[in-house]
Amino acid sequence: MIDPTPLAAKLIQRIYATGPISIADYMAACLSDPVHGYYTGRDPLGRAGDFITAPEISQIFGELIGIWCLSVWEAMGSPSRFVLAELGPGRGTLMADALRAARLRPAFGDAAELVLVEINKDLKVAQQATLRGLASPIWVDRADAIPDGPAIVIANEFFDALPIRQFVRTDTCWAERMVGLGPSGELAFGLRPTDGDPLNDNGLTTETGSNFPVGAVVEIRPTAESIVSHLADRVARWGGAALVIDYGYAAPAFGDTLQAIHRHKYDDPLANPGLADITAHVDFVALARAAKESGATATPIVDQGSFLRTMGIAIRAELLSSGQDLDGRSDIASAVERLTGPDQMGGLFKALGFGSGQLSWPGFDNGG
Ligand code: SAH
Repeated sequence: MIDPTPLAAKLIQRIYATGPISIADYMAACLSDPVHGYYTGRDPLGRAGDFITAPEISQIFGELIGIWCLSVWEAMGSPSRFVLAELGPGRGTLMADALRAARLRPAFGDAAELVLVEINKDLKVAQQATLRGLASPIWVDRADAIPDGPAIVIANEFFDALPIRQFVRTDTCWAERMVGLGPSGELAFGLRPTDGDPLNDNGLTTETGSNFPVGAVVEIRPTAESIVSHLADRVARWGGAALVIDYGYAAPAFGDTLQAIHRHKYDDPLANPGLADITAHVDFVALARAAKESGATATPIVDQGSFLRTMGIAIRAELLSSGQDLDGRSDIASAVERLTGPDQMGGLFKALGFGSGQLSWPGFDNGG
């Protein structure tokens, strides 16, 4: 057996003492253990290089989101004060590009109180540096600590990092997938039978209406749903909107999507806890349902490619290309392809908006 990571050693001790833990507890420890978590431990910026996100691929991504925010703000009646919040802003690149694009209407920047929801102290420093001269944000570490009032909330690749629970259909019952110890005391997956129906408990049965074959896996994401419920409740009460972009599915899907990426490669999720980025696909249907149940209106779930095309990515790319040499133009074209191509992020990633009242926003089928 290879040497366990410091977090694996800590988890093995914990499981030895108190028994197997859920996938959600395992993910939460991997990502946000106070000492060894992937997002909370030391050297996160280096590790953030394990994957590349849309705002780091091209400035156009953040710019179009800035234009989206501007349109929503105008649809809200251009309030003279509102909260502009981002969940998990990474290096601050998306927000910096968005604010630059939104300079089109200076009153927007004057009205916005920027709130960043972030748990990583090194990334907060990076965000501050990226946003210098553009905004003076405040930081909170939870979505429910965002100050009251009308708000526009952005979340790109945030929800995929929130913990999931997995339930597996066996021939007799639903069982929860757990992390316990294998024969040599190493971390290992196991099943714990449950007497409840995880689908029914989560409002899925009637929606899917199907019988599940043995081996079917259902994933639920309680923290994500409660964050969406909270945001939906606040925008329904005070006005505003949220935009969620992430990789995931737009129709109910049944399978194990837990994945770990370590040094740019897929990794066994149990092999390098704390050192690998561990995520799972986002169930957009569940998020839209949580938003509606809390009184918000939700847009259709669209592909990222469709969202960006409707937002005018082609025109923006053409404008940016006009000042470039051949190499510059080809870089822009390949960034656009990566962001919008159906076999690339354009198809894998989805966008969902929710907010108060009638949504006449750009980017979605129901938008202007
Ligand atoms: N949105 C950025 C970064 C995505 S990575 C981009 O598109 O480039 C995920 C981000 O969410 C990081 O900033 C990470 O530190 C933050 N994060 C992860 N879990 C979090 C949690 N539970 N609460 C707040 N922020 C979290």
